[in-house]
Amino acid sequence: MNQTTFPSNRMIPVNTPLLDGNEKQYLNECIDSGWISSEGPFVKRFENEFARVVDRKHAIACANGSGALDIAVAAAGIGQGDEVIMPTFTIISPAASVVRAGGVPVLVDSDPKTWNMDVSQMEERITAKTKAIIVVHVYGLPVDMDRVLDIANRYGLVVIEDAAEMHGQTVRGRPCGSFGAISTFSFYPNKHITCGEGGMVVTDNDTIAEKCQGLRNLCFQPHRRFVHEELGWNYRMTNMQAAIGLAQLQRLDSHVGRKREIGQMYGERLSAIPELELPLSETDYAKNIYWVFGVVLSDSFQGTTQQVAELLGQKKIGTRPFFWPMHWQPVFQKLGLFHDEHYPVAERMARQGLYLPSGLGLANLEIEHVCVSLKAILNDLTKSRTS
Ligand SMILES: *Cc1c(COP(=O)(O)O)cnc(C)c1O
Repeated sequence: MNQTTFPSNRMIPVNTPLLDGNEKQYLNECIDSGWISSEGPFVKRFENEFARVVDRKHAIACANGSGALDIAVAAAGIGQGDEVIMPTFTIISPAASVVRAGGVPVLVDSDPKTWNMDVSQMEERITAKTKAIIVVHVYGLPVDMDRVLDIANRYGLVVIEDAAEMHGQTVRGRPCGSFGAISTFSFYPNKHITCGEGGMVVTDNDTIAEKCQGLRNLCFQPHRRFVHEELGWNYRMTNMQAAIGLAQLQRLDSHVGRKREIGQMYGERLSAIPELELPLSETDYAKNIYWVFGVVLSDSFQGTTQQVAELLGQKKIGTRPFFWPMHWQPVFQKLGLFHDEHYPVAERMARQGLYLPSGLGLANLEIEHVCVSLKAILNDLTKSRTS
């Protein structure tokens, strides 16, 4: 392919969603019928279909993935002083939910190969106060759930699975979102399926499901509305969001297939670059679904991650830095958490990692352009330091 054919003034955003199925038709049905609130019929349809796809008995749709975690943490009974084991390398949402509930996040470093929480470090973090484990599958490869569930069973811990980045992923053939007591998803536009903003809590347990339904709806009681025994949130999903979500869910397999194609294209084009560490394409229990295509700059690389991101930005190529670990978050340090804690693998990824345009709307020509541009930038930075 001729690289000069790429129009140099066109922006390649870090994410563009793909909305080319029944989205418009279903959305029109909402408007034509007047059902736009959470009472509309698409919410139940989306929940039922989603539960089926992830092999769960119940699905509870809600406003976003962070809200889904708030609901899951509350429904799991995590409260004052309860310790919850989780990765340091993640988005802030799981730790925020635990801290708001009065619990204490207890952190685990990452595995340098899969970028996920290092399961072999979990057991040594368990104390008499440990109540739960929040697993977060990061960037495209899942955590080995068999090992997590084994530890949880031996110590009697609740498992919450944050599967926000794992639609359509499996562990040894079983769907992500089917493990542990409660799993959560997000439908933000950069996830494998989106509804603009949205989330889902899934569980097999009838009592937990009922709790979750209450928690997302202010804990209204069926027999006497406006009298409350507990505090919930308004985390309801609208019929319009669910309409888009259902249309997206019908395309899940093709979305995951395309993400794998994008991941493979990047992998082939960037694998020979000594300055880059690339994501593993598979483990013995799962194949990468490349929620995002991340790269980690090697220790010997002379430039900085910010420089690379800035130079790509000048070429109108969007990137995002990797997660900033929980033990480095000013908000948690101000609360007195994680004092003097160090997690070297996560720290290195935070400093040296960034991800490239990875959205489902990305064209092959754009992937070529990103790879050619990145190579040129790394070359220039390496030369300018050595000359
Ligand atoms: C996106 C994401 C969330 C948050 O979802 P929102 O819908 O943006 O609130 C939570 N956890 C993980 C791992 C995510 O990737």
